[in-house]
Amino acid sequence: MYLKTSEVDFKTRVRQQVENPIMRKAVANAQERIGANRQKMVDELGHWEFWREHASEIRDHVLQNLDAYLYQLSEKVTRNGGTVYFAKTKEDATNYILQVAKAKNARKVVKAKSMVTEEIGMNHALQQAGVQVIETDLGEYILQLDQDPPSHVVVPAIHKDRHQIRRVLNEQLGYDGPETPEAMTLFIRQKIRQDFLSAEIGVTGCNFAVAETGSVCLVTNEGNARMCTTLPKTHIAVMGMERIVPTFEEVDVLITMLARSAVGARLTGYNTWLTGPREADNVDGPEEFHLVIVDNGRSAVLGSEFKDVLRCIRCGACMNTCPAYRHIGGHGYGSIYPGPIGAVISPLIGGYKDFKDLPYACSICTACDTVCPVEIPLSKLILRHRRVIAEQNMTQKSEQRMIKMFTWANSHPGMWKVGMVAGARAAKWFIKGGKPMINVGAIAEWTQARDLPDADGESFRSWFKKHKAQEKNNG
Ligand code: SF4
Repeated sequence: MYLKTSEVDFKTRVRQQVENPIMRKAVANAQERIGANRQKMVDELGHWEFWREHASEIRDHVLQNLDAYLYQLSEKVTRNGGTVYFAKTKEDATNYILQVAKAKNARKVVKAKSMVTEEIGMNHALQQAGVQVIETDLGEYILQLDQDPPSHVVVPAIHKDRHQIRRVLNEQLGYDGPETPEAMTLFIRQKIRQDFLSAEIGVTGCNFAVAETGSVCLVTNEGNARMCTTLPKTHIAVMGMERIVPTFEEVDVLITMLARSAVGARLTGYNTWLTGPREADNVDGPEEFHLVIVDNGRSAVLGSEFKDVLRCIRCGACMNTCPAYRHIGGHGYGSIYPGPIGAVISPLIGGYKDFKDLPYACSICTACDTVCPVEIPLSKLILRHRRVIAEQNMTQKSEQRMIKMFTWANSHPGMWKVGMVAGARAAKWFIKGGKPMINVGAIAEWTQARDLPDADGESFRSWFKKHKAQEKNNG
């Protein structure tokens, strides 16, 4: 499993998700709850727009000087006793991790939640090589048991309710306790504890890396990243190459925005800072530290008209507000990056071939633009994707023909006028009871959830003329 999470085509995926009431209810409830909490925290902080602007400037500054900060970071990590590996592709990244696992004779890896490791398909590569990978984030652990991909970047199991979770625990681990979150969490915690103690390697992502000190910042609500980075002898942190900040001062701002935007909290439960491997007088920590910095297409994005998307701090706020995400959930997108951010970044990293439908899973309501803590103009970037898709003739042939016909008629005023009159007359005959007489193909899909108004045979221009005259007469 890597960036692409489904082999089913987009329309079928969407239909399956729309017909899944459990997912839709779970996602709607989560959106409501997280959205309300987020708003409370935004109001409490005050001057939210100023904070957004500041956060956006920090991210832009980093992107404009990324080469220098990457250099500084790698120097610092090396000086602190760690090893840095720059991975150009996802294969480079997984091969390096496999190499480390081999050198350590690792049989078991414990892992904290990390989207970039999903993106590069790390679990699959390690498992193929005979290394057991245990997800230790509660949601990810349940999904791993159920062989189900994540559907949200912050709340991976957002689509499941507690009955489904209990069923998974019962079928996979023989759990027969109550259906309460507390009891099920306790059960999982006891299982994972043994894995923390026996794993040779701990893998984490990296919310932010501080160039000035070579530190890696991990933000969790469960404390599992601390266990992954203190108990196993080797720690591998995997980060997207853009997740850098110059100093702790900027982290302060970004963490303030991240926690509020992601889960509607002032801070997440655990904020962990790691600066290299264990030193002689440290009581815990790994003996070896590796930082894998993943490019996987990001350099190309940096120099493109989509570069703003690299400001993303993966807070998930755009998903929590998106009406399309509310109806089709994360699995509707078929990418480990769903929602508005997924609609932008998936085609950039994974290519249009697999993800060209995603920019169309959007009504351009711009709700995501408003909540994004780093001011990414997501709706504009989605429209840019649509433009590229049209310019490169990746749309359906029938659509291309229709657009050509429309363009031709639209640029011949006489033809347009005749067309409008003829169209209005035909519509009177053609539409009955809200549906067209011939309801097939794209028309049937469009009218599946929409009724057309019954037409009276009058064209818009004629109606408008009458309407204006009436207005004049009425004074
Ligand atoms: S695009 Fe903005 S709102 Fe969406 S995950 Fe990234 S930072 Fe958060």
